[in-house]
Amino acid sequence: MSDCLFCAIASGGIPADVVASTDRVVAFRDIQPQAPVHVLIIPRAHHDDVPSIADVDPTLVAEMFALAAQVARAEGIDATGSRLVTNTGADGGQTVPHAHVHLLGGRRLSWPPG
Ligand code: 5GP
Ligand code: ZN
Repeated sequence: MSDCLFCAIASGGIPADVVASTDRVVAFRDIQPQAPVHVLIIPRAHHDDVPSIADVDPTLVAEMFALAAQVARAEGIDATGSRLVTNTGADGGQTVPHAHVHLLGGRRLSWPPG
């Protein structure tokens, strides 16, 4: 999709701190981290949000979760725990309209969300 920030990051057109990738998924550090570990996991292909992927390519959702687990191990937070978040639409607080999962960890996270 033209003019999509995360499409540009996935293709290398806009730089990002990429920590892991596969042929279909890319993981890179959030530019405004909310925890010591804050990594975004995105599909290379454009999808508006995670529910849209679940409809058309559920295996891709599994691949995103698998890469998140790999990054959690690489970042050393698999033992202490982490949180996967996917914000969808206005009420969910989604600000970038390219599907992504947040991996957060490295400190005790609060619950419930505000
Ligand atoms: P959302 O609010 O849509 O769930 O999350 C979007 C995330 O993308 C935010 O946490 C924001 O900090 C991050 N973000 C926005 N622009 C950029 C960017 O240019 N580079 C990186 N690495 N992260 C970004
Ligand atoms: Zn996109």
